[in-house]
Amino acid sequence: MQPTEIPEIYRGEFFEHTIDYLDDVGNKIGLDPNILNRLYFPKRAVVVSVPCRMDDRTVKVFQGYRVQHSQTLGPCKGGIRYHESVNLSEVAALACLMTFKNSLLGLPLGGAKGGICVDPNLLSRTEKQNLTRRYTTEISNFIGPATDIPAPDVGTDAQTMAWLMDTYSQGLGNAVPGIVTGKPIEIGGSLGRTGATGLGTIFCLEEALKSIDKHMSETSIAVQGFGNVGSHAALYAHQRGAKILAVSDVHGAIFNADGIDIPKLILDYQQCHNLQKCGYGESISNEELVALDVDAFIPAALDGVIHEKNAKTVRAKIIIEGANGPVTPRAAEILNKSNVLIVPDILANGGGVIVSYFEWVQGIASFFWEEEEVHRRLKYVITRAFNNVMEMAKKENYDMRTAAMAIAMKRVEQAMLLRGLYPR
Ligand code: GLU
Repeated sequence: MQPTEIPEIYRGEFFEHTIDYLDDVGNKIGLDPNILNRLYFPKRAVVVSVPCRMDDRTVKVFQGYRVQHSQTLGPCKGGIRYHESVNLSEVAALACLMTFKNSLLGLPLGGAKGGICVDPNLLSRTEKQNLTRRYTTEISNFIGPATDIPAPDVGTDAQTMAWLMDTYSQGLGNAVPGIVTGKPIEIGGSLGRTGATGLGTIFCLEEALKSIDKHMSETSIAVQGFGNVGSHAALYAHQRGAKILAVSDVHGAIFNADGIDIPKLILDYQQCHNLQKCGYGESISNEELVALDVDAFIPAALDGVIHEKNAKTVRAKIIIEGANGPVTPRAAEILNKSNVLIVPDILANGGGVIVSYFEWVQGIASFFWEEEEVHRRLKYVITRAFNNVMEMAKKENYDMRTAAMAIAMKRVEQAMLLRGLYPR
């Protein structure tokens, strides 16, 4: 699709990459063109102004979004992101990826994403709560336990979901735990949800390592990003005997040739909030981190961090996309040529939404599982998807990114054809 055909409101690099990705794979697998046309753009996009009382008593207005890409397979599902780069175009691209992530994983859910353009680090707890409650009110007519179920994403967490659930519930007069997932255990959350995305990346890595005949205990890893996904990925890999040689956060990266003591670092990081000041390794630049000689690299920060210019420097044999869209399409072409195995985002970071689905199911049944059971089922669902993708990649001679999208699009296509277009 030519970018000129993209409506102005959705224009943006990430959205255009996402459309190209759909277009490419759709054409490759001979997807029904009428269906493909319907998959480019979201079903519904809501833009809201969110006035927020700040601690100094002034009122600031933030822009908020909720984009519902598809409801074909079930209720819309996807996180809410607080970040200063959030805009309609980015949220629309992320919502679209959620549709295909859920489809690929075999979950009975559609895709959505939301967010507010704000740097959450600059907000006090009260301001963040005010902002979340007013944003919830503004989008409350569009979300619901059977329509669209938010969850945490970059810059939001279980506490944010608790405020969202409470605000929505106040409006209705009764507790509605099913309005969000990723909420605290005390109000209906699932054990294992917080670490689920990180754990999912490590289950994917375990499978990917089979292709280079290695075991986790002899693997060296670099992780970019030390938020919820990156820190849990590092922790679960460390617990399985891998050596984490480097990790990074917004301030920079650290390297330790003997491997970083991740459990200890996680504890200290809660105090110092700056990896380079925690004293667990020497400081290196982000570009040096990307170019480290490791078996696996897990980019778990933001999109577009491995691009045309630095792709050639990558020495890892495996990349696990913990973030959404960390490897640009041009970078992926370069890496495919040098036989780097890229486990794509819609598969690699699917652990979060898988356990969100479990949380939703447990809530409906009012019957909650042990953490061990959550982990066992998570492993089953993500490994099943990994193997489906690998099988398709081998059979059709596709890279994993193409194979994953091919499976995901085909499933949505089948469902759309079965449901038909209304009115005819
Ligand atoms: N924000 C996560 C994602 O991008 C989780 C979404 C969810 O649990 O609904 O997959």
